[in-house]
Amino acid sequence: MEINKIEAYSFRIPLVEEFRIALGASVEHTGVIVKIYTDEGIIGLGEAAPSARITGETTETVLGVISKLKGLLLGACPLEYRRIIENIDNSIIGNPSAKAALDMAIFDIVAKKYNVPLYRLLGASENSFETSVTIGIMPHDRAIQKAQKYIEQGIRILKIKIGTNAPKDIELLKKIRQTVGDDIRIRIDANQGYTTKQAIRVLRAVEGLDIEFCEQPVHWRDIDGLREVRMHTEIPIMADESVHTPRDAIEVIKREAADMINIKIMKAGGILNALKIADICDVYGIKCQIGCMSETQIAIAAGVHVAVAARAIAFSDLDGYLFMKDQVALGIEFDGLKNTLPSKAGLGIELKEDTLKKYTISSMKFEGRK
Ligand code: MG
Repeated sequence: MEINKIEAYSFRIPLVEEFRIALGASVEHTGVIVKIYTDEGIIGLGEAAPSARITGETTETVLGVISKLKGLLLGACPLEYRRIIENIDNSIIGNPSAKAALDMAIFDIVAKKYNVPLYRLLGASENSFETSVTIGIMPHDRAIQKAQKYIEQGIRILKIKIGTNAPKDIELLKKIRQTVGDDIRIRIDANQGYTTKQAIRVLRAVEGLDIEFCEQPVHWRDIDGLREVRMHTEIPIMADESVHTPRDAIEVIKREAADMINIKIMKAGGILNALKIADICDVYGIKCQIGCMSETQIAIAAGVHVAVAARAIAFSDLDGYLFMKDQVALGIEFDGLKNTLPSKAGLGIELKEDTLKKYTISSMKFEGRK
């Protein structure tokens, strides 16, 4: 089997409403969908969700990187996926979401070739995994209404975005716990918004609220600050923006800077690296979450396949697709608690070609052996 064509589509989809976190706000999702074709007629789907503030990428850089790396793919046999993906990883520094799109499409092809769902190829049997649903930064009355609405819809795990105003964040979390009662699981994410002292103040003030963990309270480069916060609160601290690669995970673990790690396929550079991080964490007894950016069901599905396969992954936050006005790809079922994958071969996701066309900004095509 040989790869004989690569297509990439950059696209833009409006969100249902503005999504604000401590790092900034967005009203639309921009990403790149990749289709990798083989001479056996098998087509792999991949997706890049670049983030200028987190991965240092844009849709334009993703297209540029795919163009640069096409020679590693055209003419290659996807069944040699480890070699291809590791070559991609070594060929250019950074650019993890562009790498993730290629990695994902290759895994999709390999599982389709063996006619099994990807989770089977990765050695798993379950096809569903619990997820939180996120409430962005918004006025308190709206955040509380939203929490109530989610609970009515059957959602059981809330992730509350904080990090812009320490005293108000404390107030908000108390009100939300009061509103939703004790049975709803609450996680919080400050997206680097606090200083070390602010983070300690907030976390100590909400220790009685049964918060499962707090993601990235301080700046991503401030590993000492992360450790300091961790030492001063009983709420588990999860490193998110501080950990992109397997190497970052080792650094955070060695410095005892976090209780948990949030893996994202877009930060790690794909499924293979996401699994490597999970396995490193497993060796150290560190629990992981698999999270997402704003992503369509293609990348979300990749996250669920990884979640069910890796023992260290105990939590997931794979809700990005729920906030888009339209779906360019389908396959996942969400019942309020779990994302369930179809039992189809590969990622199990179908691209809605017409919908993608409607939102496409630009596209590229590469054909031939090299
Ligand atoms: Mg986070």
